[in-house]
Amino acid sequence: MRVLVTGGAGFIGTHVVKRLLADGHEVTVLDDFSSGLRDNLKGLALKLVEADVAKPFDIPCDQVYHLACPASPIFYQKDGVATLITAFNGTHQALLNAERYKARILIASTSEVYGDPAVSPQPETYFGNVNTWGPRACYDEGKRAAEALCYEFQTQGRADVRVVRIFNTYGPGMRLDDGRVMTEFITAALAGRPLRLDAAGEQTRSFCYIDDLVDGLMLMMACPCCRSPINLGGGDEISLGELARLILEQTGSGSMIITRPRRADDPMRRCPDATLAAEVLGWRSRIGLGEGLTRTVHWIGLTVEKN
Ligand code: NAD
Repeated sequence: MRVLVTGGAGFIGTHVVKRLLADGHEVTVLDDFSSGLRDNLKGLALKLVEADVAKPFDIPCDQVYHLACPASPIFYQKDGVATLITAFNGTHQALLNAERYKARILIASTSEVYGDPAVSPQPETYFGNVNTWGPRACYDEGKRAAEALCYEFQTQGRADVRVVRIFNTYGPGMRLDDGRVMTEFITAALAGRPLRLDAAGEQTRSFCYIDDLVDGLMLMMACPCCRSPINLGGGDEISLGELARLILEQTGSGSMIITRPRRADDPMRRCPDATLAAEVLGWRSRIGLGEGLTRTVHWIGLTVEKN
């Protein structure tokens, strides 16, 4: 098949692209390299379109994985207006391209649509608790509006849409400088720098290893009947305090742990109810945090050494 991957130079995109190429598909990547890295695509046999996804484009395809959007607070808070435009207009352009070619389109939404949840774990039926004007709103509300747009296209019979709500995903290939907690903790531990914990480390997250996530994305794309959003996320909810201690143990680091106040609107709980993914897709995350951390620490160690 001809598969278009927007945001294919990013962390998740690169893994999706490699899986698609290994499965024999013809891949086009559309990316503006605002947070993705050229090196990620080096040596891969694909077609590259360097462009802004929020502007009109015309790329023949049978399937679209629409991943292009700044994803970490460091990137999405740089220019909140641009983030909202990318989230909404980018999804609009991706949907128009899918409509033009009658291609199925999978959209990467996020657990951030649940905001700081009053319900945990979060099922797809939970409507969320999102601040519309806080520092995270540009991302959270951008993704919520993008979801709404997808379902309007679906209602009007204009596109065959799959929406996945991705929870924290980690693994080899992440940028080491975009402030995500997993890479922050591991790079600090390896360098002997302090690990900084917000909110006394009581916030929880559920981490999904990248290979599991890619399996889920592929299953969702292949699913003939799934019409509602589906959560994809790791099953082990862990407090960030516990995660910091686990990483210190794994790396044998003597780094200190220091605390700072909770950042505005940062969710206290993040845990997927992944029942629907299990029932509809037969998916559940398989690689536990221990194994995933070992692989990620190893990869980050090698990357730091190389640089
Ligand atoms: P990433 O920053 O590594 O990748 C995003 C990619 O999109 C980058 O290559 C970037 O250059 C590209 N991009 C951004 N704006 C663009 C634009 N206007 N035009 C063209 N390309 C643009 O992030 P990621 O972690 O790989 O996330 C991929 C998708 O998954 C995002 O939509 C994100 O919201 C979603 N998601 C990720 C996570 C996670 O834990 N990684 C969790 C929830 C949702």
